[in-house]
Amino acid sequence: MVKATLLYHPSVDTKLALVTDCSDFAMGGVLQEISSNGPKPLGFFSKKLSPTQFKYSTYDRELLAAYSAIQNFRHLLEARVLTLYVDHKPLIFAFTQKQKKATPRRLRQLDFISQFITDIKYLPGKGNVVADTLSRICEIQFSSLYDLELWANLQETDEELRSILEGNAKFSGNSVKVLMPDVATSLYTDNSTGISRFYVPLQLRRRVFDELHGLSHPGIRGTKQLVGSKYIWPDMNKDIGIWCRACINCQRSNVHLHTKTPLVQFLIPDERFTHVHLDIIKLPLCIVISTV
Ligand SMILES: [Zn+2]
Repeated sequence: MVKATLLYHPSVDTKLALVTDCSDFAMGGVLQEISSNGPKPLGFFSKKLSPTQFKYSTYDRELLAAYSAIQNFRHLLEARVLTLYVDHKPLIFAFTQKQKKATPRRLRQLDFISQFITDIKYLPGKGNVVADTLSRICEIQFSSLYDLELWANLQETDEELRSILEGNAKFSGNSVKVLMPDVATSLYTDNSTGISRFYVPLQLRRRVFDELHGLSHPGIRGTKQLVGSKYIWPDMNKDIGIWCRACINCQRSNVHLHTKTPLVQFLIPDERFTHVHLDIIKLPLCIVISTV
């Protein structure tokens, strides 16, 4: 969305509108400038909820979205006329409710919000397209590589891991099953170096490499260190070396030093031996035909 639309330079004397929304797993917001030609976007905001925030009530999630969006755009909001738009109607009465009813967290967030906004208005879900879309970006929730269930299933069916566990295959590390925090999933890890590293099943190796190497294309040694700090699999360094050498982006950006000095003319000296010029040139091949 950021690429699809043009962000505007903020003007000093226009009113601002911040539209926020929160779904079950993420929050979103858009900061707009209200000009005579309609609203113009100044910035977008989107953030995934933490496991604790997942459990918040709708009211608290919507309040959190407004609070976080204001924190994010704080540098643009200070000393400006700002209206906050939310699509959760009870929230517009937040500042008129009895303080005793509010939890300390709500009070703290409302206190912060009140330092920046001049008004809070209700915007029905239909008119809240941008913020609603930003709070429903599913990729924020599901990054394919962090699906622990998938890891557990693939580790269970990985033949190489099975032969390592049965002692039929050589492996530099050790394989210990560790229970992951917060989820009822156990994964095989190696802790022979004092750091727990995930054992990567065959199907995920290339994806792990792509994800980490693709961050900055750090070269063979750098990629080995980066991948090796979190993951392990047999012949890991060999695989990484082959994939790095085959990476098209790395090949394109590698700088090879080919200095080509242009031909220059020697200045004619005034006297003999005042200058000694030396150059290496490649003479053209010539064929000598001897005749009798
Ligand atoms: Zn690369």
